[in-house]
Amino acid sequence: QLEKGVRDHFLNNGYMQFYSPSLMSAASEGGSEFFKVIYFEREAFLAQSPQFYKQMAMASGFERVFAVGPVFRAEPSFTTRHLTEFTGWDFEISYIDSHHDVMDQEELMLISGFQNVKDTIMPDLEVPKQGFPRITMSEAKTKLKAAGINGEKEHDLSPEEERAISKMIKEETGHDFVFITDYHISIRPFYHMRHTDNPELTKSFDLLYKGIEITTGAQREHRPEILEKQAIEKGVEPDSIRDYLNFFKYGCLPHGGVGIGPGRIVMQMLGLESINESTYLPRNVKRLTP
Ligand code: ATP
Repeated sequence: QLEKGVRDHFLNNGYMQFYSPSLMSAASEGGSEFFKVIYFEREAFLAQSPQFYKQMAMASGFERVFAVGPVFRAEPSFTTRHLTEFTGWDFEISYIDSHHDVMDQEELMLISGFQNVKDTIMPDLEVPKQGFPRITMSEAKTKLKAAGINGEKEHDLSPEEERAISKMIKEETGHDFVFITDYHISIRPFYHMRHTDNPELTKSFDLLYKGIEITTGAQREHRPEILEKQAIEKGVEPDSIRDYLNFFKYGCLPHGGVGIGPGRIVMQMLGLESINESTYLPRNVKRLTP
């Protein structure tokens, strides 16, 4: 029912659904979290997200797209929120002024999803209200420090910090959701757009729901020269992503989007202890059957 409400939002607001392949010739976003598969005489990789394909759709002029599909992560994580294969929701939109336009759309999407759950199966569910609180990472860190919570990482939130900041925001505003914005470039991928007046910070965000990250989003860098420069700076060899860089060669609209983990949303919505409980046939490091 959550997915139906989310889908209604997309279909009523001019989005087109796309399906993208999971088999790829190169690891989509680099890093070490990819699965290699034997592909006839060569190696292939399982997609870690449809990131590049949804941006390709933007460069092709589709303006608004969404996808619901499998995502693979070879993370040897033993947490209650990581699976090795999960269903991902993605959307990407053009004609944006900043990452705030993307957050606006995610709010409407979630409200539509929650409303449908409430109307059909969970009459007591609290439907979030538009205007989710948005605070920058630096504001979040200041608040946490003032409360005596000091995370190990200067530019990122630990699970403990995520829980604490969500609790504070809930107490202050009544909201179960909070956007943390403007992450430092050191922990964001090369394709996140940077602030012109502060190039150390990206026009990006995470969305926390009851203390757990459920989304990462950003405005993307659509200008090919800057994109290539940022890739080099981040140690990504431009020739290894030449097909991707070529999407932007003939011009591309300013755009942005998100990757969302519905398994985590359902887990938090129902107060479950682990994503294994909100996923039919979960796949994690230990579990490949049934
Ligand atoms: P985390 O920091 O929690 O490992 P991430 O930053 O790697 O997540 P993204 O790559 O931004 O996550 O993925 C977008 C969304 O997909 C996340 O916000 C989360 O909801 C979901 N997600 C990511 N990794 C997993 C996973 N291993 N299992 C289940 N859901 C996941």
